Amino acid sequence: MMNARRLLLLLTYLCCSVLGIACAEPDSDSRNVEPRDAAQTRAGTAREANVAFSAQRAFALLEKQCEFGPRPPGSAAHRKTQDYLFTELQKYANSAVLQPLEYKVGTQTLHLNNIIAEFGAQTGETVLLAAHWDTRPIADHDPKPENREMPILGANDGASGVAVLLELARVFKAHPPPRRIVIVLFDGEDYGRTADDMFIGSRYFAQNLGKWKPDYGILLDMVGDKDLTLPIEANSWNANPEFATAIWNRAASLGLAPFQQRLGPAIMDDHVPLIKVGIPMVDIIDFDYPYWHTIEDTVDKCSPKSLEVVATLVISIIYDGL
Ligand SMILES: [Zn+2]
Repeated sequence: MMNARRLLLLLTYLCCSVLGIACAEPDSDSRNVEPRDAAQTRAGTAREANVAFSAQRAFALLEKQCEFGPRPPGSAAHRKTQDYLFTELQKYANSAVLQPLEYKVGTQTLHLNNIIAEFGAQTGETVLLAAHWDTRPIADHDPKPENREMPILGANDGASGVAVLLELARVFKAHPPPRRIVIVLFDGEDYGRTADDMFIGSRYFAQNLGKWKPDYGILLDMVGDKDLTLPIEANSWNANPEFATAIWNRAASLGLAPFQQRLGPAIMDDHVPLIKVGIPMVDIIDFDYPYWHTIEDTVDKCSPKSLEVVATLVISIIYDGL
């Protein structure tokens, strides 16, 4: 037999269910109960993010990419790396997608994929964080002619920027940024013998911005060098001098010595297609790297500390704004 009080509770519950009302147990006191995932929905701070960012974990992500071997488009290692990076980003992002594109070089058709993931607030300004995940199929700057048709490992030129962004993705999940973040890992940056067949993924992305259109962005390329020097990249400065100056000023205020308050060389890189469509972008790049486009671009030339220095600047901009 059901007593009157139980019957009343049951009727209340059924009414709520039928009406689609979220109905607390009438006897429970819910006044002091916070949403279970309050820590996840509250915006994180730069301090929390800096504590959470692990230089060792970032470096392990650099090593992990290199364990796949050279990762030029069309190779099995390229395919495996794509699956790995996409799976990792899906763990942490609000949403993650592949942006496929085909590109014809001579008689060959390359099947490339940019990997795109969103984090943080759903509205407000959008900040793009980018790096390229492919590696160069030819070591055309190797000092030894016999090595120049070999693919590079790309520990610094490729893996370093991606490693920083993957570790940041984990941090963003734990401490959601107060603005919308779009991470894009570009494919086909380093493919061609000439610039005509390079920056393939970023050119496509810049022409198909859609809902990912950022207000401004930061490109990380070759940020893992043990001997890190980061002058202001000249194409970034020429296009948007105030924006570039603000970024390097922030590095100075944070006491990040590798960021040098001088103009460095102009580098053709994935930021240029975005600058061309009106997006302020800086390229954080250490081009003073003797192993660039050689088979010596290996893990031992890189350091966890360099990845951390760059992450500290990115965290400051993401969480505190410019
Ligand atoms: Zn390169």
